[in-house]
Amino acid sequence: MNHTRLLSTLALLAGSSTQAATITVVNIDGTGEGFNDPTVVAALPSNPFTTLGAQRLHVFQTAANQWGALLNSNVVIKVQAAFNPLTCNGTSATLGSAGAMTVHSNFANAPVANVWYNAALANSLAGTDLDAATNDINSQFNVSIDTGTCLNGTAGWYYSTAASDTTPAGRIPLLPVVFHEIAHGLGFQTFTSSSTGAFFNGTPAIWDTFLADATSGTTWNNMADNATRQTSAISDPNLIWKGPNVTAEQADFLLGAGILTVTAPGNIAGVKTAQIAAFGPLAPQSGLTGAIVAAIDSGGVSNLDGCEAITNAAAVTGNIALMVRGNCNFSVKVKNAQDAGAIGAVIDNNAAAGLPSMGGADPTVVIPSIGISQADGNAIRAELAMLNVVTGTIGFSATLAGTQVSQGTRYVRMNAPNPVQPGSSVSHWTVDTFPNLLMEPSLNTSLFDDVDLTIPLFKDIGWNVVTADPDAVFKNGFE
Ligand SMILES: [Zn+2]
Repeated sequence: MNHTRLLSTLALLAGSSTQAATITVVNIDGTGEGFNDPTVVAALPSNPFTTLGAQRLHVFQTAANQWGALLNSNVVIKVQAAFNPLTCNGTSATLGSAGAMTVHSNFANAPVANVWYNAALANSLAGTDLDAATNDINSQFNVSIDTGTCLNGTAGWYYSTAASDTTPAGRIPLLPVVFHEIAHGLGFQTFTSSSTGAFFNGTPAIWDTFLADATSGTTWNNMADNATRQTSAISDPNLIWKGPNVTAEQADFLLGAGILTVTAPGNIAGVKTAQIAAFGPLAPQSGLTGAIVAAIDSGGVSNLDGCEAITNAAAVTGNIALMVRGNCNFSVKVKNAQDAGAIGAVIDNNAAAGLPSMGGADPTVVIPSIGISQADGNAIRAELAMLNVVTGTIGFSATLAGTQVSQGTRYVRMNAPNPVQPGSSVSHWTVDTFPNLLMEPSLNTSLFDDVDLTIPLFKDIGWNVVTADPDAVFKNGFE
């Protein structure tokens, strides 16, 4: 808190007033390509433009405006952008890339001496454009997504700017990708090599004063040598973010892993690991409690799989429906249980190993659902067969997913795969957070324009935030 107030004071000393940042898009595409592509396309409700280039630019400017509204700067932030062919193959693709174009240290009002700040943040803190001749952020996006030359079956970018629009199957929404990439350029990156541990031009980044090894507690700027940082970069799950704002706010954005807590009968009571469905709402943070009842359907391959309409709706209504995995999509089962009056659903695995994946999508599903192991499902079914009442709670483990304890304090983990993945390692959150975060290394289709823990991280590195993220509440029913 003192840190934030100090920065605010310095900004006032520089003669600045608090105002939202203006982020301008500098289109560097050539005539007829990328943002200038004249191909005629159909307007969308949220994107009224009718050429491919203009629709792309509208998405980009929308994302830029949303970031600008969240951050404080009296200096215009210039983001140069282009659509170019980027790495891709049949199954994976680089969707976009971005970063600061210049870095600055020891400028007027620099909160921390002898560390690199990205241009946009340095300008904001200095109250003046420290390198007016150069744009602040460079970004590019993979045009091959639209030309059908990568990601088998992908039908191109989707240019909606409204979170309420459902992205059509096979399309990739551009807005969250732009949102993610601009965030890198605004400061969600280190300038230190994740491969060698070497500082950029011998100077650590402000990032490195918060990036730390959980075992030693040492931040990257204070590590003994490059080799120690090189080792830290691949030390998953021990690469952590020790920033005070992220640490204070992590519980506002993260949950524990899914669990089913069976409360009766006593002989099977206990916490069962569970996979939370990718569709439908989350259970309330306090958990969803009810009797667990086996749903019976009208037949098909099995009358226990929930793939057809439920016939014992009287028993299921107001309770948690148990259905076995297989024969149809998870979302079909849960929707059938919902239609029969269930308040939640549990899918038990049809194979001995692991948990049901619980993937899928159906915006009409309004009840929470989870998958449990075959062994746990069998134990519940054995009790139901003896006409015993089984009760349980669909909820979340107390341990926040994607976090690690260092010297008594819990911190959010950063991406630290082994071997190192330059461009992905260190400058993203771990992929293990739940719910997913904007700044994980891969696009999560559950995200659109929510900036979640990015804002506390930006506060840690020195940004003054105009407003809390207006979407910074759990979307799926949490208050
Ligand atoms: Zn990224």
